[in-house]
Amino acid sequence: MDEFTLIRTYFAPLAAGFRGSLNLTDDAAVLDIPAGNQLIATTDTIVEGVHFIGSEDPSMIAKKLLRVNLSDLAAMGATPYAYLLAGTLPKKVNVNWVKKFAKGLSEDQKLFGIALAGGDTTASFGPLTLTITALGLIPKCKALRRNGAKAGDDIYVSGTIGDSALGLLCLKKKLPRDRYLQLRYLLPQPRVALGEKLRGVANACIDISDGLMQDLGHICHTSKTCARLDRPMIPLSPPARKLIEKKSALWNAILSGGDDYELLFTAPKDKASAVAAISRNLKIPTTRIGSITTGKNIVVEDGGKIVTPAKTGYKHF
Ligand SMILES: [Mg+2]
Repeated sequence: MDEFTLIRTYFAPLAAGFRGSLNLTDDAAVLDIPAGNQLIATTDTIVEGVHFIGSEDPSMIAKKLLRVNLSDLAAMGATPYAYLLAGTLPKKVNVNWVKKFAKGLSEDQKLFGIALAGGDTTASFGPLTLTITALGLIPKCKALRRNGAKAGDDIYVSGTIGDSALGLLCLKKKLPRDRYLQLRYLLPQPRVALGEKLRGVANACIDISDGLMQDLGHICHTSKTCARLDRPMIPLSPPARKLIEKKSALWNAILSGGDDYELLFTAPKDKASAVAAISRNLKIPTTRIGSITTGKNIVVEDGGKIVTPAKTGYKHF
């Protein structure tokens, strides 16, 4: 199937109904930005053999690709608007693969309220490489940033932490199989609705892609602050809790493993009830796990004992 038939058959339906896409008939999309808004733009590439194995269900690859981008929009507090897709496709990628890939995108587009605005595909001799550029909207100057944390802020995370790192260990057969943990790795849940509600409430926000310690490091670095975490407060899923009770060395994977795509944010103490109300209304758990400090390091405590992982991935500025 040639490129144009591929676009007409599988990709144009993903753009249908979204005016700015011009149904993928032109050289570029024409996007309106509602008055008083700013465009938030982010891009992520995944490469076969680096970010995914290649044998996964194509619809799962599609969803993860879109979701990691949506998670970056969530971290900025943006509302999903449109995305562009670029694929470098080796010969073995056939029509059936593309069909399943497009189906995955279609399902997640409906779930997260975003549409395809344009893209490009090219044949290649290299590995399968996929890129999405996601665009979001936000009222002017309301974007959540990493650099707004203040000493005394509470530190929160959404959902549970470490599932994805443990899930990857399961997939690599270094831990027993666990469907829940594996799915958390394969199919993250971008916290788009939470990000939108945190506008004007959170002082700083990031999505956890590199690991809790490292991403907290990014907030501390840009905010010129430090942090103290209370390890027993870190929310764990029941399967993760079970594993940690047997093997406490797994705390390392939980604190430093990546790919959770939960939001990590800070808010002043007087916003605690606002955070709780948002969490309740959205039915997305948020948990206070520590405080922003003026100290010299990020410190993790457990019952008064310092348990900071040796490799935090963070150096004080
Ligand atoms: Mg990010």
